[in-house]
Parts: sequence; structure tokens; C-alpha cells
Amino acid sequence: MAVSTIFAQATAPGRAGIAVFRISGPQSSRVLAKLTKSPLPAPRRAVRRTLWSADGLGAEPIDDALVIWFPGPASFTGEDLVELHIHGSIAVLSALARELKNTYGLALAGPGEFTRRAFDNGKLDLTEVEGLADLIAAETEAQRRQAMRQAGGALSRLYEGWREKLVNALARLEAAIDFPDEDLPPDLIPAVDHAMAAAEEAIGLHLDDGRRGERLRDGLSIAILGAPNAGKSSLLNRLARREAAIVSAQAGTTRDVIELHLDLGGYPVTLADTAGLRETVDAIEAEGVKRAFDRAAAADLKLLVLDGTALGTERPLVDAETAKLIDDDALLVLNKADLAKGSSGPAMPHEIAGHPVLAVSALTGAGIEQLVEALGTVAGARLALGTAPALTRERHRAALERCQAALLRGMDAELPELKGEDLRLAVQALGEITGRVDVEEILDRIFREFCIGK
Ligand code: GDP
Repeated sequence: MAVSTIFAQATAPGRAGIAVFRISGPQSSRVLAKLTKSPLPAPRRAVRRTLWSADGLGAEPIDDALVIWFPGPASFTGEDLVELHIHGSIAVLSALARELKNTYGLALAGPGEFTRRAFDNGKLDLTEVEGLADLIAAETEAQRRQAMRQAGGALSRLYEGWREKLVNALARLEAAIDFPDEDLPPDLIPAVDHAMAAAEEAIGLHLDDGRRGERLRDGLSIAILGAPNAGKSSLLNRLARREAAIVSAQAGTTRDVIELHLDLGGYPVTLADTAGLRETVDAIEAEGVKRAFDRAAAADLKLLVLDGTALGTERPLVDAETAKLIDDDALLVLNKADLAKGSSGPAMPHEIAGHPVLAVSALTGAGIEQLVEALGTVAGARLALGTAPALTRERHRAALERCQAALLRGMDAELPELKGEDLRLAVQALGEITGRVDVEEILDRIFREFCIGK
């Protein structure tokens, strides 16, 4: 089937100073020449051209544009490609889109179609495609760095490196199996086993990373928990008011969990406010409390909010429900410090059950900077990039686990044929990560992550 020529707006929709259209495919050069009524410009040089409409009766200028001509294969998609930098008004955008569609018969690109073509033409492998998707979606500095690394081929080199070694071992093993008249060289099986063991160990270390790469993509999840009226919502609102830190705020899927996305020192964090924890006979509230406990179990860190006004009274500072949640993944915060800190009142505890306690006031903002700093430190410790590239996706994890299982089975296999079969499965699993192995279903899922124009 002939390759179609596609176009799409590469920049975000809506009014802007400049918008960029991309055209990719075999018709690109013809369209560019006709649209500008000029010969093709020098490759990869920005030149100013008027874009003309051939639509309707007389020719009419659509816009003054900056155009760049990228002849394939030295282009993003590997095909002939044109970039048109036009004025970003709704009218200019739709006039150009109409022209490309009606006069030239170009097709509007589907989601991720430019990147899909780049993949099909060997410009990027799947881990690089995913890195690019992450880079486009990156909201914080650490996410940007991880995505840049992956888009630059760091994971690709790692996985392809393992795959290549295993393919070598497989080739030697198969060559020996294919010549049954000759005895297997005595050192062959040990050498193959050694290659499998080395890969298995490296994969094991890569898998055992506390999921930091995946967490960095999703954000470290922090649940705010505590008794009703301890000041959980006020604390969330106070944190949300630090404008510089907010990425986005949205209501959770349930009415009783509100989520807030923050950028803490470059690390993405999702804060969730939960229903107050207490014993209750009310069915709806009980459901809220159950969800709060579920949330606590799923969170990477629990921010336990204590009501400082209980200090020096008969009420316990740490209620029974909150006490159940104190562990190494908990950060204790004593709220309403403004009320608790009367000159005659009892001293603020610096620790409870061996855990440090931060005194804050959601009302006045006292101690909030220190709290943000403490949260940033935890996020940094859990998410910081190491020197080795981190595993970033469940898809990779699943394939690596299959690869590892096949290697372990193969190392134990007595018969060379069985060993070879497991080795083949291990190689196949690694190939699925980078896209060496054609699996249409995987490709569709990955490219769907992109929006139109990417
Ligand atoms: P939640 O049920 O834990 O979410 O608690 P809220 O955030 O709704 O707060 C309960 C009450 O405590 C409200 O009346 C708040 O105004 C008040 N409150 C919250 N934080 C503080 C604080 O730091 N100081 C004082 N004085 N009052 C606070």
C-alpha cells in the first residue's frame, strides 16, 4: 500500500503567536512547492514564504509563514517532511487545514502517527518513543531528566546490550545443536550458562529498584490522614496556596479523596486528602474511613495530622485509629500549633513513639516551609535518579520478569534443545521492550498515548 501524506498541528490547539503544522510523506515536496508557489528551499533552513490558497476562484494568500524543508530520511519521521510556522489564530489554522485537506487531499494524522512513522522507519525504538511521550508529558524537573535520558536511548542501550549477549549465546548453542554428528564442544554449555546467569543477575538488580523510575513518572503518593477536624483539609489548602508548587488540582474519583499534584524541589508528588479516621456507625462515613485506610495502605508516604489543641487536655494527642498507621512510612505533623503554643501550655513534643514530629499551623502558615522541605527530602530520597537508567514502565517490568524466568529455567535445563528454547523466549521478551519483535497489539497501545500532531 502506498504511504499516505499526513498533516497535523504540532503545537497545542487554541490561539497563540505562532503555531506549527507538520506535513510528512511522499507528497510533502509537491505540496510545499505549490503552497508557496516557489521552488523548494535549501534543506533544513528556515525561510519566509507566503502560503497561497488554490481553493475557490482566485489564488489568495493564507498567511506569511516560516517554512522548513526536511527531505527524508534525515527528518523526524524518516520521510520527506515539512514544517510550516504560521500565525496561531483559529482562522489561519483552519484555512491552512482546509487547504491541505481539500486542495491537496492530505489526511489529518491520527494520534501518535508521526512518531509511529519514525518508529517504522527505524528512527526510534519503543523505549525511545516512550521516553519522548514522557518528555512531552513531563511536569517536573526530575521527570524531564528521566524522560530525556530514556528518549536519548539509555534504556534502549541497556536492554539491547543484554539482548545482544543472549543472541550470541543462542547462536553458538544452535550451531552446535544443528551439527549433531559432532560432539558439543565441552566448554559450550558452561559458557552459555554463564551468559544467561550474567544477564539474569543484571536484570534482577535492575528490577529491584524500589520502582523509583515508575514512581517518578506517576508521582510519589502521599496520603494526608488523621482524626476529623485535625486540620487535614486546611493543611492541603495551605500547601496548595504555595502557588509555585502547584501543578494541578483535581477532585479524586471518590468524593472523599481530594488529590493535589505538587512539584517539590523538582519531584512530582500527589497529595491526597482523606476522610477523617474514626470509629463510626454511619455507613457512608464508615465507607469514607475505609477508603482512607485503603489510601494509607497504597500511599508511598503517610502524613499523619494530629490536633495540637489536644495537648494538655484529656483528649489523646494520637487517637487510636491514627496510632495504627504510625510506621517508617509515616511523617507526623502536629497541627494548630498557633493554639497549642500558649506560654503557659505544655511543651510541644518533638517526637512520638520514636518518630519526629513537625509542629505546623495550617491557619497561620507557621512551619509549612519546613514541612514542604521535609516532604521534598523524602521525595528526593525515594525518587532521585541513580547513575544507571531506571525502569520506567510496568510494560518493561513484565517483559523483564518473563525474561528472567526463562533464563532461570534455561540455566536448569539439561537438554541443549530445551536450554535453547528458554534462551529464545528470554531474547524474545527483551525484544518486545525495544520493539525488535513485532507485536502489533503492543504498538497500538504505546502510540495511543500520544495526542494528534506528535
Ligand atoms: P479536617 O477534618 O481534618 O479536614 O479538618 P479541617 O481542615 O476541616 O479543620 C477543622 C477545623 O480546624 C476548622 O475549623 C479549621 O479552621 C481549624 N483549623 C485547621 N487548622 C488549624 C490551625 O492550624 N490553627 C487553628 N487555630 N485552627 C485550625
